[in-house]
Amino acid sequence: MTQTLLSSLTTAGVGGPAARYVEARTEAEIIDAVRTADAAGEQVLILGGGSNLLVADGGFAGTVVKIASEGFTVNAEDSCGGVAVVVQAGHNWDALVEHAVRHAWSGIEALSGIPGATGGTPVQNVGAYGADVSQTIAAVRTWDRQRNAVQTFTNSELKFGYRDSILKQTTVEGSPRYVVLTVEFQLPLGRMSAPIRYAELARALGVEVGQRAYSNDVRREVLRLRASKGMVWDAEDRDTYSTGSFFTNPIVPAQTAERLPADAPRFPAGAAGMVKLSAAWLIDRAGFGKGFGLEPDSVSGGRASLSTKHTLAITNRGGASTDDVLAIAREVRRGVADRFGIELHPEPLLIGVEL
Ligand SMILES: Cc1cc2nc3c(=O)[nH]c(=O)nc-3n(C[C@H](O)[C@H](O)[C@H](O)COP(=O)(O)OP(=O)(O)OC[C@H]3O[C@@H](n4cnc5c(N)ncnc54)[C@H](O)[C@@H]3O)c2cc1C
Repeated sequence: MTQTLLSSLTTAGVGGPAARYVEARTEAEIIDAVRTADAAGEQVLILGGGSNLLVADGGFAGTVVKIASEGFTVNAEDSCGGVAVVVQAGHNWDALVEHAVRHAWSGIEALSGIPGATGGTPVQNVGAYGADVSQTIAAVRTWDRQRNAVQTFTNSELKFGYRDSILKQTTVEGSPRYVVLTVEFQLPLGRMSAPIRYAELARALGVEVGQRAYSNDVRREVLRLRASKGMVWDAEDRDTYSTGSFFTNPIVPAQTAERLPADAPRFPAGAAGMVKLSAAWLIDRAGFGKGFGLEPDSVSGGRASLSTKHTLAITNRGGASTDDVLAIAREVRRGVADRFGIELHPEPLLIGVEL
């Protein structure tokens, strides 16, 4: 029997074999695969595009269920309510964004170029350039493994936060209680984008923060900016063999932020008395520049390093193991803690390994 390696299913290209591997192409197949594994008492790992996962070199001892359901259904489309589109969990996220922009469905254009499947987007409330999916998700239909029943969550029930949701909070060791089957988006109709919330993107578009632009232009500029940072998956570019941002931006009390140098970026955190910092800035200023780790005598033997385009991504330069990636992550995390007294937390799900 041929072994399925997680390294062939993840964008970082690391991770050992799956003890059992099932590809589920429909909602019924997803439920069936999960139910069968649960009934047999096996561990279950749900895998979408594998772009936010770091799995141990020893592999995964249970069943890996690859969510491969595709397509979407437009339930309603009118100029008043916009479009209600129900998307299968395995549908490629950027293909949906491209379709939306082409058909003048507004609201997700700033999330262009994020790898992975649509079912993964509500899990960590995927976001970029001041937008996130909580702004457009109406409902998420799931399979509740605890109750053995379908459960639908409305937007407010999903308890979205910064890179967080109830789906992530109830995930243990990468094994979610709720398996996403479909995601329903409510998108206004029109060629204009949602208001631009990010200064770098507004500058690129020649508009003020808070103004709108043509969604086509937003998608083009976002893809260009992301590619310049190695944040659009590209098999030819080793800087994209990553999990995207390895660390979340730390949210700290205002007094902690005050102790940082004056030029440290600070953003509103959405909670009183708290401030969001830039993990990329902290990493860079702690002495870990772009490409840190590339030297053959580094902790990763040069096989894993910070991206040469962005300090927040840890990349596989070819032949890296999960341990190599973690070695860089540990060094960076320790350096930032020593220099600034701030603890960085990983963004990807760590399966069978700890930082
Ligand atoms: C180059 C690059 C750039 C990136 N840029 C961004 C960015 O700008 N913003 C951002 O937020 N993220 C970014 N990411 C991270 C990642 O692309 C997103 O988090 C994406 O939504 C993950 O989807 P996925 O299908 O690949 O999930 P996977 O990596 O397969 O899974 C991630 C987690 O979600 C769970 N999961 C996946 N599908 C389901 C499902 N159907 N039901 C229940 N649980 C599920 C998995 O069990 C796992 O715990 C980037 C990654 C890369 C490699």
